[in-house]
Amino acid sequence: MTSWQVQDGDVCGHTGSLVVEPRPGDVCEDCVRTGGRWVHLRRCLVCDHVGCCDSSPNRHATAHWQATEHPVVASAEPTEHWAWCYPDQAVLLPAAGEQ
Ligand SMILES: [Zn+2]
Ligand SMILES: [Zn+2]
Ligand SMILES: [Zn+2]
Repeated sequence: MTSWQVQDGDVCGHTGSLVVEPRPGDVCEDCVRTGGRWVHLRRCLVCDHVGCCDSSPNRHATAHWQATEHPVVASAEPTEHWAWCYPDQAVLLPAAGEQ
C-alpha cells in the first residue's frame, strides 16, 4: 500500500482511509457517458472512481469530491506519481523509497 507524504512537510489526516492503489486510468467514465472530452485523469483513492482534472471542461474528479467527500485523488497519468488532498489543498507524494 502506498503511503503518502505532504509535499511541503505539513500533515494530512486523510491518508489513513485510502484503500486504492494509484495506477493509470484509461477513460473518464463520466465523460464517456455524456460525450465529453478530458485532458488528464485522476483516480479517487477511496473508491477507485476515475474522473477528469480541473483543466478538463467537466472537472469530474472535483465533482466527485464535492458529491462524495472522498478527500484524495491520485494522478491516473502513467508517468505521474502524486496525489491531491482536496480538504487540505495539498500535493501528496509517495513516501521516500516507494516511487
Ligand atoms: Zn488531507
Ligand atoms: Zn470527465
Ligand atoms: Zn471516490
